[in-house]
Amino acid sequence: MITALLKDSYGRAIRDLRVSVTDRCNFRCFYCLPHGEPPLAPKQQMLTYEEIEYATAIFVSLGIQKVRLTGGEPMIRRDIESLVSKLARIEGLDDLALTTNGYFLPDRAQKLKDAGLKRITISLDSLKRERFKRMTGVDVLDRVLEGIHAARHAGLNPIKVNSVIVRGHNEEEVGDFACFAREHNIAMRFIEFMPLDSGHDWRPEMVVSGREIRERIEACFPLVPVKGGRGAETAARYRFADGAPGEIGIIAPVTEPFCGACSRIRLTADGQIRTCLFSKVEHSLRDVMRSTASRRETIEYIESVVLKKEPRHYINDPAFVQPARTMSFIGG
Ligand code: SAM
Ligand code: SF4
Repeated sequence: MITALLKDSYGRAIRDLRVSVTDRCNFRCFYCLPHGEPPLAPKQQMLTYEEIEYATAIFVSLGIQKVRLTGGEPMIRRDIESLVSKLARIEGLDDLALTTNGYFLPDRAQKLKDAGLKRITISLDSLKRERFKRMTGVDVLDRVLEGIHAARHAGLNPIKVNSVIVRGHNEEEVGDFACFAREHNIAMRFIEFMPLDSGHDWRPEMVVSGREIRERIEACFPLVPVKGGRGAETAARYRFADGAPGEIGIIAPVTEPFCGACSRIRLTADGQIRTCLFSKVEHSLRDVMRSTASRRETIEYIESVVLKKEPRHYINDPAFVQPARTMSFIGG
């Protein structure tokens, strides 16, 4: 039962919660976690599944409609399926998704589906074995492709595939990915490289703009915007003009910021609310949940935090400073 609607001080409704369940990962993507994770924080600082369930149920009662489990690599956390089944039972939550690097899917896609997951996003930055290895630090392209097929076979739908496009690495593969989307009826999501890498190697000239990505695709396959526009979605969505299956989405937070329509809020693995990927401050929901605060007081805390949501990110300002925590901790 929805009791209220979370709104920030700029009038944006908050509808979308991303929950990072771990900051650990078995990949070493150079744009995310090139040198591995920071030292492991004490286990008691991490939210338990019961705490994540409690927090998520409160968020849903406040009007959150979409919940995405992410990380780090969410499938690395023990028995993630049991968390999925707890969240899938929350009344009013119709859209539960998970973002994964795909490594564990060949064996576990069906278990996720059986636990109540409806849809999935799988990251894939190259269809070429050597380049995949260079970008992710692991030589497992075939296994991830197998994971995508396992997700399809299990009935997870839609299947989205995320590719971070980085200048000098994989921009020439954009057309190949469009072919891949058509052949396998996949919703491709091309993402601009953001300054959230733990190596702090991001440079503006490494960003391949959403516009260039679109032009590269349209050189092979003309696109038509999907009706209904973008709404609060991060992706500008297109279908193929010739009616082929698959979809293209372009997420261009650097060159075409969509902060004015942002409906997202994030919960880190150690229970901190982040009101923006680029926030400089965090708010400890964990401490509130572990105090004597009642449900009503916890709700008031969340509402007060949402009011502090930043108007926009400042990536393009000369004084921009990368946040201390990286994508793998915040949860992409
Ligand atoms: N490990 C899972 C995965 O790779 O799908 C989930 C977590 S990952 C942080 C979530 C998404 O963020 C992935 O699609 C990844 O490609 C993207 N990502 C990571 N670092 C990024 C960066 N610096 N800029 C843009 N996207 C990034
Ligand atoms: Fe791991 Fe995902 Fe980051 Fe790659 S993008 S290092 S798979 S968390």
